[in-house]
Amino acid sequence: MKDCLFCRILRGEIPARKIYEDGEILAFHDVNPQAPVHFLLIPKKHIPSLMELSAEDASLMGRLLFKAQELAIQEGCGEMGARFVFNCRAHGGQTVDHLHLHVLGGRFLSWPPG
Ligand code: AMP
Ligand code: ZN
Repeated sequence: MKDCLFCRILRGEIPARKIYEDGEILAFHDVNPQAPVHFLLIPKKHIPSLMELSAEDASLMGRLLFKAQELAIQEGCGEMGARFVFNCRAHGGQTVDHLHLHVLGGRFLSWPPG
């Protein structure tokens, strides 16, 4: 997608602090971290949000979740845990319309969200 911010990161047009990359997935640090650990995982396929997932994306999303677990452990959240969040559309507070999984950790996170 031409003007999608995360597609632009995927094309190297905008810099990002990458944590992990393979043929299907990119993980990078959030530019405005809300916790000591805050990174994002995105599929390289442009999927606007969780609401647009289809059955053919099932294995991709399974891989993305397992990679999130692996990277959360790598980033030091293995013992104390982390929060894994998909913001979706307007009520979910989504600001970038390319599906992404937030991983936040390194401090206690309250619940419920405001
Ligand atoms: P959301 O509000 O769930 O759509 O999350 C979008 C996230 O992308 C926010 O946490 C932003 O801080 C983050 N973000 C926006 N631009 C960049 C960027 N250039 N590099 C890394 N993270 C970004
Ligand atoms: Zn995109």
